[in-house]
Amino acid sequence: MKVLVINAGSSSLKYQLFEMPEGKVLAKGLCECIGIEGGTVTHKRPGKDDYKIQTPLDNHEAALGWVLKLLTDAELGVIADISEIEAVGHRIAHGGEKLRESCLIDDEVINYLESIVPINPLHGPPAIAGMRGCRNLMAGVPMVGVFDTSFHSTMPEKAYIYPIPYELYEQKSIRRYGFHGTSHRYVAHKVAECMGKDIKDLKIITCHLGNGSSITAIDGGKVVDTTMGFTPQEGILMGTRSGSVDPTIVTYLQSQGMTADEVEKMLNKQSGLLGVSGKSSDARVVCDAAAAGDKRAQLALQILYYGIKKYIGAFTAAMNGLDVLVFTAGIGENDRDLRAIVCRDMDYLGIALDEEVNKTVARGTNADLSAAGARVRTWVIPTDEEYMIAQDTARLAK
Ligand code: ADP
Repeated sequence: MKVLVINAGSSSLKYQLFEMPEGKVLAKGLCECIGIEGGTVTHKRPGKDDYKIQTPLDNHEAALGWVLKLLTDAELGVIADISEIEAVGHRIAHGGEKLRESCLIDDEVINYLESIVPINPLHGPPAIAGMRGCRNLMAGVPMVGVFDTSFHSTMPEKAYIYPIPYELYEQKSIRRYGFHGTSHRYVAHKVAECMGKDIKDLKIITCHLGNGSSITAIDGGKVVDTTMGFTPQEGILMGTRSGSVDPTIVTYLQSQGMTADEVEKMLNKQSGLLGVSGKSSDARVVCDAAAAGDKRAQLALQILYYGIKKYIGAFTAAMNGLDVLVFTAGIGENDRDLRAIVCRDMDYLGIALDEEVNKTVARGTNADLSAAGARVRTWVIPTDEEYMIAQDTARLAK
């Protein structure tokens, strides 16, 4: 069964065509600068040269039109006809309170997603545009929505209700939702599989550390807490996001003349690694600057390491124990120094790395990095959100 996975952002659209259930990627690519100048489509097939074309992409449907054209192209394509695609899976950042599991997309689902655009203003509209575009171009093909929030829907009230007037939850849906759920779900199940254990018997902390970062506590396969909240802004320091700060900083800056938009931009786009280091949001650049002696780059990294440690401690307490710690995403998978520093002086929790294995582990592998005898096992698991989406899509579309 061929499943197309779509991930629509505000000006981009990523795609992957899978052969399921094998999970083989037949082709994948990226449409950039949708609705703005400089439209580009990059199309990749395993073992072949990448194909890149500059072309105006007026909207998400136009981008999808290009995707389907390339997938079925006589030379560049991997299928003969669109009808070979039996289902489409959409990555959707926010499922609100109602969409707690992956589901088939119908009018009711789209209407609900439209109703929650006010709490998901950046990712909602492009995701809906992607679904509408698919419907127009691939009428009758079942579509499945996979939500970044849904894995977190098992959190208890005490973890998701903010201690502000309860009416704000009832009337404005203000609560912790959590994000990156598809990644946390994938790596948690993968690590249990790698260890030959039932996820029901494990207390796991998953650290998804990329441009955006979040940490999740998973007890018996169910999320009990996560660092991201009402939006992906909460939690640890990220590439350009601050993570948690005293909310009074916001109102204070507004009282000093900054507008709400300016404060939002500052916290979302100008903070985190970029804001503290003054160098870059890219962890590699910040690491290089720190290694060259740059004090603010060193400080930005220390804040990141310290934030991760604090949440590991807090989530271990929340679960009354820990069996497995998992690192994933761009930084988690590649930055061995971060893993070593975060896991240092954590022996009181039972965490200890084999520093040699941590240093030499091959990229892209699932690996146990723990020291012999460490009570808590520490793993690196490369995330694969698209494969998880393809799996849910194949299952639900059948
Ligand atoms: P996104 O959240 O956009 O999916 P990724 O998961 O791809 O992001 O992570 C991107 C981050 O991973 C960047 O900050 C990048 O610098 C970082 N990264 C990639 N490789 C390394 C590395 N070898 N060492 C440190 N950081 C790395």
